[in-house]
Amino acid sequence: MNRLVVLGSVNADHVLRVPHFPRPGETLAGHSYRVVPGGKGANQAVAAARLGAEVSFIARIGADAIGREMRAGFALDGIDVSAVEEDAMLPTGIAIIYVSDEGENSIGLSAEANGALCPAMVQRHGNLITEAHTLLLQLEVPLESVFEAARLARAGGTRVVLNPAPAQPLPAELLALVDLITPNQTEAELLTGVAVTNETSAASAAARFHAMGISRVMITLGAQGVYCSDPAFVGLIPGFRVEAVDTTAAGDTFNGALLAAELAGLDFKAAVRFAHGAAALSVTRLGAQSAIPRQEEVAAFLD
Ligand code: ADP
Repeated sequence: MNRLVVLGSVNADHVLRVPHFPRPGETLAGHSYRVVPGGKGANQAVAAARLGAEVSFIARIGADAIGREMRAGFALDGIDVSAVEEDAMLPTGIAIIYVSDEGENSIGLSAEANGALCPAMVQRHGNLITEAHTLLLQLEVPLESVFEAARLARAGGTRVVLNPAPAQPLPAELLALVDLITPNQTEAELLTGVAVTNETSAASAAARFHAMGISRVMITLGAQGVYCSDPAFVGLIPGFRVEAVDTTAAGDTFNGALLAAELAGLDFKAAVRFAHGAAALSVTRLGAQSAIPRQEEVAAFLD
């Protein structure tokens, strides 16, 4: 079966709009407080499911109302949540986000239950990984668990896709298990040492990734599009021009959409076009998961 398994984080994003960031010792009145579903793992699982993929999600929430509410939301999006475990001791992962009136973000994160997604938990759900077509990973859960999942996938013949976000150095042994890597510019620079600003520098960074043993490289370049170094195509594929309102989760939407399209059997160029369309729609809307479009909306946009 063409199932996608996503292993990653679940966060409750507490968002407060403020006139400016509070200074040390200052108490500041904000407005428009919201708690919204986030976490890169959850965003990517939701994107893939809304965009047509059969998705299983391996994640850890707290035994709290917000965690259970988000898990129920994943199920409503059609995601198999049998491997979304509840931690009895820790709360669901959180992000505290100030958004200033100038539109800038200031974010404090705590992994909480995400930090307890340990290698033993990955092993408990090893069947989901080995029976899937593709495993999609990010870096908001413990690195040893990402590693364990990649190892199980490799051993079971499941393709490994790594979105190496948030940016952090990675062991060569982990990168060698990856079939497709999808960094943004910052992540590509951190992992290769090449400052990626355009097609030429992206090609140099991609060459470094290939030298690490990764066969497919897709470096997302925000509004510029994506640089691909793939057996099917090498070069820059521009995205769609839209009025960007909020680019949160653009990369998450791109990743989920790309894999949903590939698993549905679209050829390389058509899958990238679909992913660009989905990500472009997401940047025209506020929020993370709330901004992720459905398949019909992307189809109408591309029409
Ligand atoms: P991340 O969110 O991980 O930093 P990027 O900013 O590189 O990722 O964006 C990922 C994808 O989202 C791009 O390849 C493109 O398809 C889409 N995208 C991002 N920003 C814009 C934008 N301003 N206009 C249109 N598409 C965008």
